[in-house]
Amino acid sequence: MPEDFDALRQELLSCRDCQARFGFEPHPVVRGRADAKIMQISQAPSGRVHETRLPFDDASGKKLKGEWYRVSDEVFYDEANFYLTSCGHCYPGKAPGGGDRLPPAACAKKWLRREAEAVNCRLYICIGSRAAGFFFPGEDFSGLVFGENTINGKPALVLPHPSPLNIKWFQDHPRFLAERVGEVGALVRRTLGLE
Ligand code: SF4
Repeated sequence: MPEDFDALRQELLSCRDCQARFGFEPHPVVRGRADAKIMQISQAPSGRVHETRLPFDDASGKKLKGEWYRVSDEVFYDEANFYLTSCGHCYPGKAPGGGDRLPPAACAKKWLRREAEAVNCRLYICIGSRAAGFFFPGEDFSGLVFGENTINGKPALVLPHPSPLNIKWFQDHPRFLAERVGEVGALVRRTLGLE
C-alpha cells in the first residue's frame, strides 16, 4: 500500500539532516499534490529557489516551461498539474571552485522512491543526468533522452538540463531541439489535457 502522501510531505519538509554539512539551515523545496498529473524530478534547487521556494523560477525555467513544455507559469505551478521535486531537495550551497555543490546522494535515497510511489501521476519527467541515473542506473543518458522509458509502469521522459551552460550537449545532439522537444511538449500538453 502506498505511503500516506501528507505524512510523507510533512516529514520531508521538516528534514534538516544536512544542516551541519551545508553550514546553514536547509529548506526542502517540493510542491504539488498527490494526484498531480506529472511528477518532475530535477537536480537540486538553486540559491534563488532557496529564497523564492519556486522551482525553475529562472532562465532555465523560462526555456523549460515556455519553449519545451509550451505551458504558462499558471499551468506549471498549478499543484494539480505538476509535482515538482529533485534529487537534492535543498539548495546545497556554493562549491569552493564556483557553481553549486552537488546534492547529497543520501537525499535522493531517502525520499525519491517514496515520493514516486506516493504521487499518483500519469507521467514522470527526469531532468538531467542525476535524476536519470537515480531511476535508470547504468543506462546511457542520451539513449534515455531519445528512448521510450517507464517508471512504476508509467511513461517517463528524460530531458537534458535546459541550462544555457549545457550548450555542448545541445550541439552534440541537434535532434533534441529539432525533433524531440516537439514530442516532449505534445506529450506534456496531452497529459495535462491541453490538446
Ligand atoms: S538535502 Fe535532503 S536530506 Fe538534506 S536536509 Fe534537505 S531534504 Fe533533508
